[in-house]
Amino acid sequence: MPSVFTKIINGDIPSYKIAENDSFYAFLDINPLVKGHTLVVPKVEIDYLFDLDDQTLQDMMLFAKSVAVKIKEVIPCKRIGVSVIGLEVPHAHIHLVPLTDMADINFSGPKLALSVEELKVVQDLIIKG
Ligand code: AMP
Repeated sequence: MPSVFTKIINGDIPSYKIAENDSFYAFLDINPLVKGHTLVVPKVEIDYLFDLDDQTLQDMMLFAKSVAVKIKEVIPCKRIGVSVIGLEVPHAHIHLVPLTDMADINFSGPKLALSVEELKVVQDLIIKG
C-alpha cells in the first residue's frame, strides 16, 4: 500500500506543489505550523530519513536548500527552520518551517487550519517568487 506521500507524488491525491525534480517533491504541509511550512520528500518510498543512501540524502538536502531559499524570499521570517519528525507519515520527509520565534517550530503546539484559498495564495507566492 503506497504511502500518502507516494500518492501525492503520483498525483493520486492533490497537493500544493512547490517544486519537483526527478528524485524529490516539495509541497505545502496541509496543517502547517506557520504559513509557508513545506515538506520535502524523496520519490523513493523509504520510511526513515537516515535509511536513505548517502547520495540521495545529500541531494535531498541540496533540493531542500533550493526550496528554503524560495520560501525565505517571500514569507516574512528570520530564517527557515529544518526538522525531521516522521512519527505520523512513514515516508521520509524534511519539514521546512519559516521562523520568527522558537515557538514557531513547536510540533506539539496547535497547527494552522488554512482554507484552500489561503494555501493557494501561499503556494502562488512561493512559486512565483
Ligand atoms: P510527521 O510524520 O510527524 O513528520 O508529520 C507528517 C506531516 O505531514 C504533518 O505535519 C501533516 O500535517 C503532514 N501531512 C499529512 N498528510 C498530508 C497531506 N495529504 N498533504 C500535506 N501534508 C500532509
